Amino acid sequence: MATRVLYMDERRGQEPDPCYLKDFDARIVERGPDFVVLDATAFYAEGGGQPTDTGILRWPAGEAKVLRVQKEKGVLRHYVDRVPEADEVQGFVDWERRYAHMRFHTSQHLMSGIVWRIYGARTVGNQLHADHARVDFQPANFTPEDLTRIEAECNAVVGAGQDVRIFEEDRVGVDHKIGDRSLLDLIPTSINRLRVIQVGSADYCPCGGTHLRNTREIGGIRILEKRSKGKETDRIVYELASK
Ligand SMILES: [Zn+2]
Repeated sequence: MATRVLYMDERRGQEPDPCYLKDFDARIVERGPDFVVLDATAFYAEGGGQPTDTGILRWPAGEAKVLRVQKEKGVLRHYVDRVPEADEVQGFVDWERRYAHMRFHTSQHLMSGIVWRIYGARTVGNQLHADHARVDFQPANFTPEDLTRIEAECNAVVGAGQDVRIFEEDRVGVDHKIGDRSLLDLIPTSINRLRVIQVGSADYCPCGGTHLRNTREIGGIRILEKRSKGKETDRIVYELASK
């Protein structure tokens, strides 16, 4: 049985917004030696550069730590330090960690969109953490002035407080809009509807991650360094100002 992924519900201005769901009720549908499969979850499984969520599953007689969530052959496994004996549990996402990932994920899309528009460089890799992120661009050979400009352009969108929209679109339409910019061919051809994240006027990109509602929540982007990662590939490492 497939797990219903609650943060994937469409964003329609409801409260709480699906990406901001911190707790939920679920039923255990499968038990392993150190994991459970739930009928529904708000936990993010590691993927696309965004780390796994952690948190707690609670039931009347006890609680278990969720150490990581991983998708294996299409099944979402919640690895736990103790397998609950109850069938019904309440899940609690470690919100501080997840919200940090959301701020970095949305800011990464923002930076990727801006770098694409100004320099025509694609994002070829990224890894988010709770306190910094890195994004690899290609083809790129940024000068210090370029980095100053990227940072300023990102922070202008942050300061403008633009809405982040999440919606579904036909693959053909998405392909048409983003052209060479993204590696849509990495997404299985069986998927015809794509979940698109639109970061204000700055970015439009398919993604399965969890995202902020407004760019204001990013706070501010501070580029820490640029590293050359070989031929025509530059890595930008950045942190976020506290909100
Ligand atoms: Zn993404």
